[in-house]
Amino acid sequence: MKGKNPAYKRVKGAFKTELLCLACEKSLAYYDKSGKGNLINIYISRVEKGYLEFNKKLLVCPFCQEELGVLVVNKKKKEEAYRIYRGKIQMKRI
Ligand SMILES: [Zn+2]
Repeated sequence: MKGKNPAYKRVKGAFKTELLCLACEKSLAYYDKSGKGNLINIYISRVEKGYLEFNKKLLVCPFCQEELGVLVVNKKKKEEAYRIYRGKIQMKRI
């Protein structure tokens, strides 16, 4: 994905964040985060735009190829998400 995410759906009550790769400090995506707390999962439908590719089992940084997370499926919500490894992505509220 480069630019807008065709699967993006606006989430009520969410706030906008920018996700950055901690290894190379480049901007990866704009993401709707809901709830308090750290970023644990990136739900694909909440990514508004950016450079992340969602067609593989592993999520990697498109700039430095660092492994960022692994694909999981939330059974309750039947939603695909990437479980983010600790210390790989920085979330900045915007
Ligand atoms: Zn990177």
